Amino acid sequence: SNQYTVHIITLRTRNNMDKHYDLIAIGGGSGGLSVAERAARYQKRCAVVESGELGGTCVNVGCVPKKVMWYGAEIAHGLEMAGDYGFNIEHKGFDWGELVKKREDYISGINSWYHSYLADSDIDEIRGHARFVDAHTLEVGDETYTADHIVIATGGRPVTPDVPGVDLGIDSDGFFALQQRPGRVAVVGAGYIAVEVAGVLNALGSEVSLYLRKQHFLRPFDAMLREGLMEQMIEDGISIFPNTLVGSLQKDGDTITLVCDKGSRTQGIDQVIWAIGRIPNSDNLKLEAAGLVADKHGFIQTDALQNTPVEGIYAVGDITGREQLTPVAIAAARRLADRLFNNQPERRLDYENIPSVIFSHPPIGTVGLTETAARELHGDAVKIYQTRFTSMQYAFTKRRTHTAMKLVTVGAKEKVVGCHILGPGADEMLQGFAVAIRMGACKQDLDDTIAIHPTSAEELVTMR
Ligand code: FAD
Ligand code: NDP
Repeated sequence: SNQYTVHIITLRTRNNMDKHYDLIAIGGGSGGLSVAERAARYQKRCAVVESGELGGTCVNVGCVPKKVMWYGAEIAHGLEMAGDYGFNIEHKGFDWGELVKKREDYISGINSWYHSYLADSDIDEIRGHARFVDAHTLEVGDETYTADHIVIATGGRPVTPDVPGVDLGIDSDGFFALQQRPGRVAVVGAGYIAVEVAGVLNALGSEVSLYLRKQHFLRPFDAMLREGLMEQMIEDGISIFPNTLVGSLQKDGDTITLVCDKGSRTQGIDQVIWAIGRIPNSDNLKLEAAGLVADKHGFIQTDALQNTPVEGIYAVGDITGREQLTPVAIAAARRLADRLFNNQPERRLDYENIPSVIFSHPPIGTVGLTETAARELHGDAVKIYQTRFTSMQYAFTKRRTHTAMKLVTVGAKEKVVGCHILGPGADEMLQGFAVAIRMGACKQDLDDTIAIHPTSAEELVTMR
């Protein structure tokens, strides 16, 4: 019947159209999922290609498992103080394996939630590794898919140094795979991950050394933060070796010997963790087929609107080499979809004043210019407000945790251009101050805000 023929034709058309999309995101991490989700909300036909687990780095081997371990470590520090607060508790130890299992179950739940979320949002999930065939065509396994718009959101992976015995160590992915708490650990690196992993392991009972190739860790951050944190980490029992470049690792029975380039050797290490940075996943995308070239570090450069030089191809998130933070990837992705599909031609992410937290013990919250950067830019117009104290929580405890705060202001109106906090609660404290700074708050605005007492945060509105 006619009706039957019409039905067949519709089916055929749909089959041919099945592999053409308005938008395909390569990578099902923070950036890729967000751009597809926002575009689908504008009734666009979208797909996400993912070769690993949905959720990407953040959910599987980044923010989420890291924060779970950080909470565990905070509890360990809390238990240390329980006696000071009158609790008579018997500490019978800590089961690393149990925490890891609960963490991984929690993450599997997030993974499955994403599968159903994509299905419910009418976003196709394409499993496998995507490579370009041309600027509008991708190949995944034996299939090809075409799209008007392709968004590269392939993130990055940990890098390891080119030294003999490198494979005796693990990277941050390997850290999350550990089923048992390592005894004696050497963490090599000086950024977010080195500091966070060293702090977690120390709190949970490992013996931790941190190897820095230069004098300090967290070099791009305000000096007050890194100096205060370093002092605290040393007080907490972490051994820090500055100006020590690791030259090689050697196997020595069941343990590892770490040999520094100047010849000194440390024996009896159970686990070496490389935390020396990440490299972008651009090397196996066959970019050249689309006429794209990565920069010398492998990043895909975009303009302020996330456009690559090839029309119809965009990039968001870690692959672009800008701030490698989940909310940055998400914000750039959503704004890109708004621009492409919701008639907002100027919509873009402003990369200034991005707040960030380092989940150390205590944590660091930081936004805006460091004192050094502000002085370079504004010279004598810079005025600094700074304080250092011990929070009331530690007034009578054996374990002391320091708090340090700094406001960087500029000009006669003392516009706040930087806010740096080290101390318990800094992680939750910063968000609101980041809003104020984004809105152009001056020191007087902070002073005019009624303090919340008794808190640590109130110091930020009462500084002289
Ligand atoms: P990703 O999340 O890395 O996603 C990229 C995805 O693309 C991956 O799933 C990958 O499998 C997939 N992929 C790659 N190539 C292909 C291909 N060719 N075909 C198909 N799929 C492909 N940020 C924070 O804001 N807060 C934190 O506390 C924090 N902690 C972190 C802790 C650690 C240990 C690490 C490593 C990172 C942390 N980050 C944190 C950073 C954050 O995880 C990243 O900034 C964020 O995940 C970047 O998102 P993305 O979408 O750019 O890339
Ligand atoms: P980072 O880029 O933050 O830090 C790595 C540092 O390691 C370098 O800056 C360098 O510091 C040092 N380094 C480099 N090569 C060597 C080497 N061969 N030997 C010893 N040290 C070396 O990288 P991470 O891997 O820590 O983190 C990657 C990114 O992920 C971060 O930049 C951040 O954006 C994101 N992230 C965010 C988190 C959060 O929001 N809380 C947590 C974790 C990661 P130097 O030059 O001083 O030696």
